[in-house]
This record gives sequence, C-alpha cells and structure tokens, in this order.
Amino acid sequence: MLDISNLQRQILYNETQIGEDKIKSAKEVLSKLNSDVQINTYKDYVDENSVKKYLRETKYDFIVDCSDNFKTKFLVNRIAVDNNLRCVIAGIKDFYGQIITINPKETACYQCVFSSPPESPPDEGPLPVIGVTPGILGTLEALEVIKTVLGLPNLENKVLMVNLIDLRFNIIEIVKNENCICSI
Ligand SMILES: [Zn+2]
Repeated sequence: MLDISNLQRQILYNETQIGEDKIKSAKEVLSKLNSDVQINTYKDYVDENSVKKYLRETKYDFIVDCSDNFKTKFLVNRIAVDNNLRCVIAGIKDFYGQIITINPKETACYQCVFSSPPESPPDEGPLPVIGVTPGILGTLEALEVIKTVLGLPNLENKVLMVNLIDLRFNIIEIVKNENCICSI
C-alpha cells in the first residue's frame, strides 16, 4: 500500500493515492503515459523462485534493478548472468549513487566489482535517501537501456559514481573477474 513516506522519491504517486495498491496505481499512471505499451505487473517478493517463474512466463531482454537492498541486487545480477540477460543495476544512499550496466558473457558483472553484500550495516531494509537521488539514478538507468539498445557507449565495464553533494560524476573502469560467477 502506498504510504505518505513514499511520495518524496516515487514520482508515479501523489497524495490522492495514499492507501492504494502501489502496483495497480503505478500501472494506471504508466498506461496513461503511453497506452501502446504493454505492462505486466507481478505482486510478489523478489526471490529466486519468483523471478525464475516470471522469466519463464514471458520473454524479457533487459533487467532494470530498482531494488533497495544489496541482497536483491546480488540476486538480480546472478539471474542476469544465469539467463544471459542484459542488466543495469543502480544503488543509492543519501546523496550518493552508483550504476553499472552488464552484458553477462562479455563484460564485468555487479559481483565482479562488489564480491558480496556488505556485513555492516546489516541489510535490514531500505537505505536512507534524499528524494532527488533515486530520481537521478533511475533516469540514468533508463538512459542506459536506451543507449545499450541503440549500440551507443554505455556503462559496460564501468561504474559511474555519482556524488550529488559536490556534483561530481566519476567513472571507474573495471575488468571481468575470471573467478566470478559470470566467468564460470
Ligand atoms: Zn562477474
């Protein structure tokens, strides 16, 4: 259900929708943006079984990770690698973000860069964030999908580090780890 605390960062919603089903509201708003787009919604937790089930039901070309915890990002990365699906993963905290695009057979994956979810702080829930940060990183994820589909330069083998306090965007070049799940 949509809570007032969601409104500072989730631009699909407004005050009149508080208490409504988030998935239903999101589909309604997006359908009004472009009625030609087919939107499939699934009300479920993201875990290995649920994602495998939905991947079997429909053919997808690209995964865009919008999760709010490390455990899910590692799972999404592994599913992208296992199914050879292009994927973009972004993480945010406070005024900071990072984003990487993955082409599993060719380029470094999320796990090549971050070997395992951090032990501390405990992965108990969403990280605190100022509302603008997910807006910027989410838009960059959409840009990565468009550029990848068009064959334009993207964030494969790179991590973009976003610092919105100092307004710095730094790109770190990365290489595929030969011992990583994406190389086996
Ligand atoms: Zn890897």
